[in-house]
Amino acid sequence: MEKKTECEIVQDLLLGYIDGVLNKESKKLVEKHLKECKNCQKRLEEIKKDMKENENNQKKEIDYLKKIRRKSRIKSILIAIGIVALVFFIIYLYKFILVNDMVKKSIKSLESENFYKKATTMMGNRRDFCNAYIL
Ligand SMILES: [Zn+2]
Repeated sequence: MEKKTECEIVQDLLLGYIDGVLNKESKKLVEKHLKECKNCQKRLEEIKKDMKENENNQKKEIDYLKKIRRKSRIKSILIAIGIVALVFFIIYLYKFILVNDMVKKSIKSLESENFYKKATTMMGNRRDFCNAYIL
């Protein structure tokens, strides 16, 4: 009966023992008891194993989170590149339209203003002149 209570006390202290937060007396008690009691040794190994598994799981979770973060970082970089490309494309398109528009306008102004008329009338005069000369 007495041993069972000691086992319970030690098993309660095992987590603290593994973490190294026990005071000297408790630590000594646990170590002394562990030397004598196979049951509590087994319990200690189980707890250590559980903690390792937990650690591994946490590592896996952290790796998973890192992967997700990396993926989202790549995604945001790609989106940024896409936006920059789009902006350049729009600027290019805008310039192209602007130049095209200017060319069209200049052609129109050439056609509508006197330059075109002058040219045709000059050519007309010349033809008249030529005709007159030949005839
Ligand atoms: Zn024990």
